Amino acid sequence: MNNGGQKWETVVGLEVHVQLATRSKIFSGASAAYGAEANTRACAVDLALPGVLPVLNREAVCMAVKFGLAVGAQINRESVFARKNYFYPDLPKGYQISQYEKPIVSGGTLAISTGGAHKSIGITRAHLEEDAGKSLHEDFHGMSGIDLNRAGTPLLEIVSEPDLRSAAEAAAYLKKLHTLVRHLEICDGNMQEGSFRFDANVSLRPRGEKKLGVRTEIKNVNSFRFIEKAVQFEVRRQTKILDGGGAVAQETRLYDSAADETRPMRGKEEADDYRYFPDPDLPPLLLEEDFIAAVRASMPELPEQKAARFIRDYALTEDDAETLTAERGTADYFEAVTAACGDAKSAANWINGELAGHLNRENLALDQSKVSARALGELLRRVNEKIISGKTAKEVLQRMWNGEGESADEIIAKHGLKQITDDGAIEKIIRQTVDAHPEQVRQFRDGNEKVLGYLVGQVMKNTQGKAEPRKVNTMLRKILSA
Ligand code: ADP
Ligand code: MG
Repeated sequence: MNNGGQKWETVVGLEVHVQLATRSKIFSGASAAYGAEANTRACAVDLALPGVLPVLNREAVCMAVKFGLAVGAQINRESVFARKNYFYPDLPKGYQISQYEKPIVSGGTLAISTGGAHKSIGITRAHLEEDAGKSLHEDFHGMSGIDLNRAGTPLLEIVSEPDLRSAAEAAAYLKKLHTLVRHLEICDGNMQEGSFRFDANVSLRPRGEKKLGVRTEIKNVNSFRFIEKAVQFEVRRQTKILDGGGAVAQETRLYDSAADETRPMRGKEEADDYRYFPDPDLPPLLLEEDFIAAVRASMPELPEQKAARFIRDYALTEDDAETLTAERGTADYFEAVTAACGDAKSAANWINGELAGHLNRENLALDQSKVSARALGELLRRVNEKIISGKTAKEVLQRMWNGEGESADEIIAKHGLKQITDDGAIEKIIRQTVDAHPEQVRQFRDGNEKVLGYLVGQVMKNTQGKAEPRKVNTMLRKILSA
């Protein structure tokens, strides 16, 4: 266990930067699309050249409100943009426009579950801000390049309360948030491209103590697995310091995934260092009730509501409901398969089982599946109707996956895979099998029950697996005891 043992309690608070999926920047009309040639996408406003004025992007505001409503937060009718002043090469204008004292979203909660335990994590605030440019340290020899394309890209910074008590809870919170922002379609969630970035604040305190301990802030982590490892490392490091009677230094640390350790980066700034003041170029943002109502009306079904509905309407287990609602596309696929086959349980089993196997082998996402939801649904319907067995269905799915015709019926007909349902036909094969195995039949009649399994296997073989084993079993028993 890495929860600080008995003596210390782990406390984690997370700051997440969600890049909003708007077409243009937060204060200018420049394109916010990722991947353009360096320094071709930052306009005069993004760079704050003299004489230009920022104009707030309405789409970014809608997205922030959407998020606030999704976590049950307070949407502030008035919020204020402030300048956060600091120098850094990727911020040539010398300040970042952010929200400070009056953010657009306050409060709210996110429910997480770890190892079956449910917990509600408080959200302190979510505010709108612009991103800075990017320093490129790897592309040049002995020099760093600056790409300002990202300058002015809209971000929603979501700050949690220090409510998390372990590395696992921190990872669960981040995954939940990641799912939510993609469901809301306010962020593409691409972590390689930096669309979803996070910092973890970690401290320890004696168990039972109310006051928070001194924290460090871990930056530069870009995967759920690494944030868990980084927090675990930090807990071990701080435990050692405190156990030895030392004091943790408040600082910013970088996580090095290769060495699996955090290292000091700089002393932590205090808010005072930034000389925040309201941006004189931007009036306070005032939201009308009508605007908020319109955003509310446009909200999609939330992952949790969807999961609850799946449990209620489709009688899914909590686990199935959770995996099937983690991605909006997966949930849609599941519902389409269920509609086509009329059996939610087998839809869930096949999507999470056999289909997931095919996808994983080729490293594909569900939206790249070579078998459509409708085609899978029709296949499962044939299983339910007992036209083919589950085992045969796997073979048919493999053939569909290989591109041998789109419809299950086509493949079943072409390869003669239909189950034999005609009792007369099965009986004929049973009698032939019985005649061919006089020795085993004698043993069975002498009371050796185990031979029956062997004989069933022989019959199944003679039907090329196209009879129902249970039915064969019953009929065989009857014939043998006649
Ligand atoms: P900043 O890091 O920008 O100074 P805050 O002081 O508001 O901002 O804190 C940011 C994050 O750090 C929040 O998620 C908060 O919950 C968390 N945090 C603050 N104090 C502690 C602490 N002692 N231990 C763990 N997390 C903390
Ligand atoms: Mg911070």
